Amino acid sequence: MRAVAVEPGKANSIHLRDVPTPSLGAKTPQRDVLVQVLEVGVDGTDREINMAEYGMSPTGDDYLIIGHESFGRIVDVGKDVTEFAAGDYVAAMVRRPGSSIYDAIGRQDLTTDREYYERGINLRHGFLAEFYVDMADYLVKLPSALRHVGVLTEPMSVAEKAIDQAFEVQRRLRVWRPKRAAVLGSGTLGLLATLILRLRGAEVVTMGLTEKPYLNADLLEQIGARYVSTRTQSLREAAKEYGPFDLILEGTGYSPLVFEAMESLGTNGILVMVSVTGGDRKVEIPADRINQGFVLGNKAAVGSVNASREDFERAVQDLAHAELSYPGWLARLITHRVSGLDNYHELIARLEQPNGAIKIVCEVAD
Ligand code: BGC
Ligand code: ZN
Repeated sequence: MRAVAVEPGKANSIHLRDVPTPSLGAKTPQRDVLVQVLEVGVDGTDREINMAEYGMSPTGDDYLIIGHESFGRIVDVGKDVTEFAAGDYVAAMVRRPGSSIYDAIGRQDLTTDREYYERGINLRHGFLAEFYVDMADYLVKLPSALRHVGVLTEPMSVAEKAIDQAFEVQRRLRVWRPKRAAVLGSGTLGLLATLILRLRGAEVVTMGLTEKPYLNADLLEQIGARYVSTRTQSLREAAKEYGPFDLILEGTGYSPLVFEAMESLGTNGILVMVSVTGGDRKVEIPADRINQGFVLGNKAAVGSVNASREDFERAVQDLAHAELSYPGWLARLITHRVSGLDNYHELIARLEQPNGAIKIVCEVAD
């Protein structure tokens, strides 16, 4: 079968290649499922992998099949699979267990292992191919009514985990409910995090660089959130006008904002950090003021990466909830559809020039 792959460590090595077609043989584990890939979304992580800034091949291979935001249809299931049948729509989780105690309880997203296994990213092949085989435990089912937006399940799961972690930490406060939230970053993750917070009843200010008119700002306003460009108002000013913020989610990829967010967080508030920043940026910060604000204000900060099975399940529920509350909204996030694996160059070109793009999706089959 055909697959889109890179040679990790070699910049701009993206290519189409022929790889063995996976199948369910007599010797494969009975919990395995064969899936035909329908759609795969791409994001900044794929761009970084192609730039050789990130990502590793599985041991024994000199290439890595990319693609971690998957949506597919089941072709066949092993004898011990009762929860899925041929024809079901599914999305696959990204991380696979290593050896820490967190992996052992199905929380490989919280692993303490130094190495982690992520399909399409690190040490495991991804989904930008015609078929894949995986264990039923790593798949979640989607109703056919979500066929057109199912490819958003993985990015949604990352936003779900970030917000769930905030609620888990805030259980320390017994009665916490976020009334006012700020989401920093207005790309796919910022939009989906805002959506989840709106579905939970919070008032949300979402901030990005771009000034209006801006499609993402229109989308945010359609779900009752406020969009503020950081070119017209700083986070500090926005916190004065629209805060105090009970929750701030930082997902811009610009790490100095983390410290501005720490200063702008309300009493008893929580800051969630989700940007994977591979650089080496340094800034000067008002350390005493931030520290004192955290101590006297009982504030918390938490980092969040990847997503658990529960987060994927919540993602599916919230996609359905969003379709009922804001019909048609999710589909507008998919701004670019590239048809067929052979057009992989267009996928990367779009990622390099995101001009107006929100989610870019490869249509592998229909
Ligand atoms: C993926 C996550 C992954 C993270 C770090 C993100 O792009 O969506 O699943 O854990 O990259 O590799
Ligand atoms: Zn991703």
